[in-house]
Amino acid sequence: MDAARERLRMVETQIASRGVRDERVLQAMRSVPREQFVPAALRAQAFDDHALPIDAGQTISQPFVVALMLEAAAISPGDAVLEVGTGSGYATALLSQLAARVVAIERHESLALAARERLERLGASNARVVHGDGTLGCPELAPFDAIIVSAGGPEIPGPLREQLAIGGRLVIPIGESRERQRLLLIRRVDERRWNTTDLGPVQFVPLLPGAAERPRGVDEFGRG
Ligand code: SAH
Repeated sequence: MDAARERLRMVETQIASRGVRDERVLQAMRSVPREQFVPAALRAQAFDDHALPIDAGQTISQPFVVALMLEAAAISPGDAVLEVGTGSGYATALLSQLAARVVAIERHESLALAARERLERLGASNARVVHGDGTLGCPELAPFDAIIVSAGGPEIPGPLREQLAIGGRLVIPIGESRERQRLLLIRRVDERRWNTTDLGPVQFVPLLPGAAERPRGVDEFGRG
């Protein structure tokens, strides 16, 4: 498999062709080796047009959905970004190319460790993976210019709203059930106002509250 060529094809046929125009997002998706974020046994399917299973009963998201979320988050090179639901670390790697720094929270320790290793190997030194409950956000490093949530629940966790900078964007799947989820873009207008845009139907794994411990490893991560 020529992975670099497969990635170009993935971007052309699944992402650009469906209307994602943000050239920085397209370029990041061409360059981040998605094949290294899927389980070895599924590597031949790394560029397929759907989500794939990873460890701990979780998934790596469909490439197009990742692109849609990143484009909606309108990330600039100087931005501080929070990601909730790191999973494989694939979106984290993309974010590390788009933003100045990324904090990524994952509640499954085994996934957090594996993602951290991959990101280190790829040299994504502006990304930090912490193990903990992402519904609490990361107050120590807030506010964030963008927050990306890759797991869905019935309502927007309050701390995530509050940890958005004024003008910041939160992209999150919300719905009473997986079948009724909508991808929402929430933009913080000022201290007390948030605007919501519905980006359409999606299906994410559940956003589970209440991981046992407070995110670790935050303290060493400077604000830059
Ligand atoms: N962007 C990831 C998506 C992984 S699936 C990828 O493409 O690989 C969503 C992830 O959210 C799962 O790994 C799940 O364990 C995690 N998750 C669910 N609830 C969470 C919470 N409260 N805090 C942090 N992570 C959570």
